[in-house]
Amino acid sequence: MLMTYDGIVVGRRDVGDNSCFVDIVTDQRGLIEANAHGVKKINSSLMSSTALFSYSTFCLSRGKSQYTINSAKPKYSFHEISSDVKKLALGSYFAQAVRYCTSSEQSQYVRGKTGAESLVRFLAVALYETINTEKTGRTLSAVKSTFELHYSSVLGFTPNLIGCNNCGEYECARGMYFLPDRGYLVCADCLNPEYGGEAVLLREETLFAMRTVVFKPLSECFKFRISEKSERQLSNICERYFLRHTERSFTALEFYKTVK
Ligand SMILES: [Zn+2]
Repeated sequence: MLMTYDGIVVGRRDVGDNSCFVDIVTDQRGLIEANAHGVKKINSSLMSSTALFSYSTFCLSRGKSQYTINSAKPKYSFHEISSDVKKLALGSYFAQAVRYCTSSEQSQYVRGKTGAESLVRFLAVALYETINTEKTGRTLSAVKSTFELHYSSVLGFTPNLIGCNNCGEYECARGMYFLPDRGYLVCADCLNPEYGGEAVLLREETLFAMRTVVFKPLSECFKFRISEKSERQLSNICERYFLRHTERSFTALEFYKTVK
């Protein structure tokens, strides 16, 4: 049986001298492990499409127990990510996170506020933003935070950032607190010891950025500029929120922190 899917390679393992297995994330079937025969031969048409981060249209055949790549047509190349070790490390973290969080044989379309969202497109935008920070004027730290918080939402862990969980106010003159364990906001007027756990007093810019990431569509959710101080707070919150919900650590994230 032949099938065609758009997808991004998020993992690759060499097999023998010439072949490899690749993990491809797709919207229709989640994570697909596919065999690529003869891929390391100099004239192989699959060489570029089976590289890590390759975004291609894959034509696959499905045998009894595994998929095989018959042909592939590149859609977009993220190969220049390899020219900068920090960007490569961050892209590898994204790939590792998506590989870990995506099930096999399950549609990955998520129905959000703005309609169905494509996981493949989300990963493609995150990689594009990672490569093009010089062009966009945004930082790797902001791209990483956006990925972590937006992806948490995609996975079903959307924090409630609409307003104070108690009184419903959108903002408060004395400030808004984010309670990461509970995933919601409480204004300074309503916060009391009964809430327990951690409560982070958000900088105004941090809350603005978090709302942008969660409520804006994919085409806009990366597009905010905030001060370095607010970015640091955003970074702390988003990383811890994402890791708390995925319940694991990522070796690629540890590597990113050593080269950053
Ligand atoms: Zn309140």
